[in-house]
Amino acid sequence: MSIVNIVNKQIKNAARIINLDDNILKILQKPKNLISFNYPIRLQNGNIEIMSGHRIQHNNMLGPYKGGIRFHPSVSIDECSSLASWMTFKCALQDIPYGGGKGGLSIDPNKYSKEELECIARGYSRKLYNFIGSNKDIPAPDLGTNSQIMDWMCDEYNKIGVKRHDLGVFTGKSLSYGGSLGREEATGRGVALSVLEWSKYNNVDLKDKTFIIQGLGNVGYHTSKILLSYGMKMISAGDHTNYIRDYGGLECEEILEHVKYSNLDSYDKGETITKQEFFSTKCDVLIPAAMELQIKEKEAVNANCKLIVEAANGPVDNIADLVLKDKGITVIPDILANSGGVVVSYFEWLQNKTNEYLEHEEINAKLEKRMSKTINNVFDVSEQYNCTLREASYILSLKRLENAYKSRGVL
Ligand code: NAD
Repeated sequence: MSIVNIVNKQIKNAARIINLDDNILKILQKPKNLISFNYPIRLQNGNIEIMSGHRIQHNNMLGPYKGGIRFHPSVSIDECSSLASWMTFKCALQDIPYGGGKGGLSIDPNKYSKEELECIARGYSRKLYNFIGSNKDIPAPDLGTNSQIMDWMCDEYNKIGVKRHDLGVFTGKSLSYGGSLGREEATGRGVALSVLEWSKYNNVDLKDKTFIIQGLGNVGYHTSKILLSYGMKMISAGDHTNYIRDYGGLECEEILEHVKYSNLDSYDKGETITKQEFFSTKCDVLIPAAMELQIKEKEAVNANCKLIVEAANGPVDNIADLVLKDKGITVIPDILANSGGVVVSYFEWLQNKTNEYLEHEEINAKLEKRMSKTINNVFDVSEQYNCTLREASYILSLKRLENAYKSRGVL
């Protein structure tokens, strides 16, 4: 099943529960704009390489399109479209004035030098110049991109034509270029807060509870750090190069230091296991923090945990979702669990507009308050409709979108 169909099925499931107006459902199942482009860059060996990029603008009923830019070989129109839809629902769920967008290049960023990446980033920004802006479409980092790439893109955007100073066109920038304190770790912090709120709601003491995590990049790294500070134990971890496990507890601080500069295949402690063994590991919390579609029927059947927290976008497919429901495994869905990043991106955007910058603790406190409120709303809706947390999250988002369409007389 194509990943766009997976998102649309998730939307339909929730729409059916609340008898959503069919016309709204039709609108939300198609992206508004699909932008695709090619541009050449000169590599350091003198050769020209053609970059093929996309930006999908799914919906802007609640505000400017908002969503990351991904540099990864998997990038396609289909993948960007599904990620753009999830952004629409994520922003609506958190009640922030944004719509949904997503874009990227189908490249492996590790294959390019820093100078080549700068050309690639600046070229991407030039191609998007007419389609983005701080009140139009606001990109941010995602898989394979970071604050340095956002800085280059933002600088390029601001240099085109008459030089301007519109910092709010990109979020996730570095601190020296209008970034926000707390943005770097915000997605991971939001994921960890989801675990914390779930534990409070279910009267679970997190001390010594075990977790396993796939992906130790930006999101996985910070999620792990914060879960460790709650007294939890990491017993297995994986990335695109290797999976390791130690039921007695891995040396997490050492691993987290290691993955700052390297991958897990060069880390020599812990038992090396397969991806299937990783997903079958007995633990309390399983956190996919890498890519979409990692947990399919087989992984769901073998899953041996109480809670799955979707730090990545779309890691669980629809069949797996049903299997997990039958097994009584709770899933905190992506549009809720990883929304901390876009929440702090919103704070960054506000700070860029007012030029008043908040302290780190203020940002963390604001994020914590918003995550806690939204998560508890989702728990309540799930009880009210006797539905999963995924359905409850979509119900809250769909109701906000429906109100916007109806109050403006669009439908
Ligand atoms: P990243 O590039 O910093 O890290 C990605 C991690 O996933 C790395 O550890 C990599 O080794 C691992 N990985 C990649 N492909 C893999 C594979 N096939 N199998 C196993 N591991 C693999 O990316 P990130 O920013 O941490 O994003 C991770 C996920 O979180 C993505 O789904 C992204 O869309 C989502 N997300 C990110 C943010 C953000 O603020 N960065 C916000 C919301 C959601």
